[in-house]
Amino acid sequence: MDSIAKALVFDGQVKVVAFKTTDLVNEAIKLHSLSPLAAEALGKVLSVAAYMSNELKGEKEKLSVHVQDKGVLGSIIVAADAGGKVRGYIQNKDAVLPPLGNGRQDLFKGIGSEGFITVIKDLGLKDPYVGKTELVRGNLEEDFAWYFTRSEGSPTALALEVLIGEDGTCTSAGGVLVQPMPGCPEHILVVVEDIVSSFAGVGDILKVKEPSDILKDYFGHFEIEYFPEVTPLYRCKCSREQMSNAIITLGRGDSVNLLMERGEIEVVCHFCGKKYVFSKQDVIDIWQKYDHKI
Ligand SMILES: [Zn+2]
Repeated sequence: MDSIAKALVFDGQVKVVAFKTTDLVNEAIKLHSLSPLAAEALGKVLSVAAYMSNELKGEKEKLSVHVQDKGVLGSIIVAADAGGKVRGYIQNKDAVLPPLGNGRQDLFKGIGSEGFITVIKDLGLKDPYVGKTELVRGNLEEDFAWYFTRSEGSPTALALEVLIGEDGTCTSAGGVLVQPMPGCPEHILVVVEDIVSSFAGVGDILKVKEPSDILKDYFGHFEIEYFPEVTPLYRCKCSREQMSNAIITLGRGDSVNLLMERGEIEVVCHFCGKKYVFSKQDVIDIWQKYDHKI
């Protein structure tokens, strides 16, 4: 079962989070019919966003992650609500490149090292927090580690893998994130670095160990404080009302043209694929409501 397990070790001086997101990635593969390459890319962003959303403090806080790249995959957008609830979209879901073997895809070419990661956090303040860093590798784990280090000021080691099987489903997804707190002494950093190096191939580790086992097995012999585990989930919040905004965005002229052409307007949610059909009367009502408001 998917889970996010978190602990503080070395008397609160290092944060460690292990997360398993295999079911979550398979849900995304099913909803979007993702190619293996697109599944690894979107799966990695969904996994990191699930971790990030679990770090949000208030229930109403939310965030979005946007990866803009120059590779064949195009933009990736993931939105998340507090507590590990995420939904995502990738521009070129059918993109294919020769795989690297062992369930690993060629993200270096799929995403490339030109582009940006942008994170917007709505923490209920007047202005949202916006963090942006350039992609450094295109494999996403080093890119997100760089984002946390550079933009959020938290030096981070991140092991992250999404393995795709022959049948196109995800066989293992998740990772381990380690963040020393500011002022963490050098001798602890040395120990942590040594442990982090054992997480290469974290996808294979997650096939045999649960996230809570990873924390226990690798860090349990140090002073450790565990946090309650959370289950990350693929959750879309789209609604008919929200989707009616797409008709306003379309504009009055184009929505009338579409109605003449097809008799109704169908709007599909990018995140979950749910279809919303608006009849002629629906569209008239939407525009009347809009006119009433302005
Ligand atoms: Zn939706």
